[in-house]
Amino acid sequence: MVNQSPPPDAEAQLAPYAMHGRDTAGRVHAEPTHAYRSPYQRDRDRIVHSSAFRRLAHKTQVFTGAMGDYHRSRLTHTLEVASIARTVGRTLRLNEDLIEALALAHDIGHPPFGHAGEDVLNECLADHGGFNHNQQALRIVELLETRYPDFPGLNLSREILAGQQSRSDKLRPADSGGRLLEVQTVDAADSIAYNAHDADDAVELGMIAIEDLDASALWSSAAANARRRYASLDAHQFRRAAVHELIDLFVSDLITASQRRLTDLNPSNALLAAFQPRALVSSSGEMNEQKLELQRLLFERVYRHPIVLDQRARAGSALREMFARFVANPAALPRRFAAIVETDGLQRAVGDCLACMTDHAALEEHARKFK
Ligand code: MG
Repeated sequence: MVNQSPPPDAEAQLAPYAMHGRDTAGRVHAEPTHAYRSPYQRDRDRIVHSSAFRRLAHKTQVFTGAMGDYHRSRLTHTLEVASIARTVGRTLRLNEDLIEALALAHDIGHPPFGHAGEDVLNECLADHGGFNHNQQALRIVELLETRYPDFPGLNLSREILAGQQSRSDKLRPADSGGRLLEVQTVDAADSIAYNAHDADDAVELGMIAIEDLDASALWSSAAANARRRYASLDAHQFRRAAVHELIDLFVSDLITASQRRLTDLNPSNALLAAFQPRALVSSSGEMNEQKLELQRLLFERVYRHPIVLDQRARAGSALREMFARFVANPAALPRRFAAIVETDGLQRAVGDCLACMTDHAALEEHARKFK
């Protein structure tokens, strides 16, 4: 191993209100510091090398793989969140390594088939503690990943675990909830990414006409910016230009509003910044309203589109049947879940087994067991 200290420049450039790696609360299982990676760089690397992360490539974000290959998967959504969050974090002089680790882990607990899968597992586990993808992410990184001989899970820094835990608390975007600014940044980037790419994907898939998006004032502004910037675009070029403008509107507002709050308050350290009554890194009130309007439009026209609802119903019944089959026949569970039956009960072990699966693996398993 190369024997040198972590590069000093990254920490020196951080604002006082950023989370500094040297102040980390450490890991549940103590480990020596690394020769040349900061704690959060190691966290990021552990997440990227995990099998749960790789499986995101074949898990539904909103639209299933059966619907083509243009739209986002859970993995590409995750990478878009990381990309947006890092831009915001660097501009605000926050800890980019921590931001990247949080972003790459934020959806790692999603089961196959997106929210349809989550709803069905929650229903199947209703008498056994329920199912929530944010909680499942913690199970994965604390228990289910088995890559290291010295500890279960990935033994991530406590700041990552606390950030992921806060995602379960159903905070409104403007609530602080004791979240570090890096956590607030990733949460804001998540909603920017999915609003922009769901609009893009839905038009590509023909679920909504691009003109219908003009019912959202925000989309309408983004589209006007694209028209102003480019004299003549074909339909595809125009849509993509408008999506870029939309992301730009979101991100510029987020940075401006957050910078204003940070300048006004000037918090002297990360904890002081985290424990404010309202989130310091969040969109302006006006942008939040416009974002809600776009979300309502996407909800009505896209998330409740007959094709999406049909896919949800089919995926849901496959998962429900598999859950019942595994509970009735625990011997059919892969061996690595046997220990979980002992510690957390059969139903939870079945939930973990199904939640780990990619869409494809779940459909294959279902076809094999129910043909
Ligand atoms: Mg997400």
